[in-house]
Amino acid sequence: MRLVFLGAPGVGKGTQADRVTAQFGRPKISTGDLLRAAVRNQTSLGLEAKKHMDEGGLVPDAVVINMVRAKLAEPLCRNGFILDGFPRTVPQAEELSGILSVNGHALDRVINFRVSRQDIVARLSGRRSCQKCQSVFHVNFAPPKVSEQCDRCGGALVQRNDDKTETIEARLKVYDEQTAPLIAYYQAKQILSDLDGSGDVGHVYDRLVTVLRGLGAQ
Ligand code: AMP
Repeated sequence: MRLVFLGAPGVGKGTQADRVTAQFGRPKISTGDLLRAAVRNQTSLGLEAKKHMDEGGLVPDAVVINMVRAKLAEPLCRNGFILDGFPRTVPQAEELSGILSVNGHALDRVINFRVSRQDIVARLSGRRSCQKCQSVFHVNFAPPKVSEQCDRCGGALVQRNDDKTETIEARLKVYDEQTAPLIAYYQAKQILSDLDGSGDVGHVYDRLVTVLRGLGAQ
């Protein structure tokens, strides 16, 4: 299974990818997680990426493509993977297909998560993550047992800079302009499946597993 999870920020791609990884054993590659790790570690790539991320813009294609190329070369990804948040532009999609074709591979499926704008804004603005272990919570939909404290490690929960209201608008605009064209791009290649991403995490996961089983996942 070589999969891409596509959708606007806040549709729940990352959460669902974690679940698929736990059940089906395919590694999740999240370019957002990789970039945030680079920012935390203050690498030169992280310092370069941070300004784009804080503004809600995209990190330059060349930077993320190199990151993904290195990840896909790891033995863990040999039998499949879930790309979460990549590709986000048509040039990234073209590069991805080039990287895979070197080994005679191609994407099996692109899952397009669909959620209303209203729900996306509610999901993003209430999202909190642990400063220590990066676990993700939501003030309304997945609150921690103790307010502002991580259930797993006790770390402090913080709001991502780019989940602040003023940046959410910018991220959605970038999605509409640069990422949404990938829907038609993958539709034309006949590898796109739409998925209703509304409702609670468990229901979305049930729908997703039905799609994945239909593709032969086990
Ligand atoms: P995410 O966690 O996927 O919402 O990503 C957080 C931020 O990282 C995005 O708003 C972008 O600034 C950056 N980013 C993540 N993935 C990509 C990508 N494929 N291309 C460019 N920028 C990215």
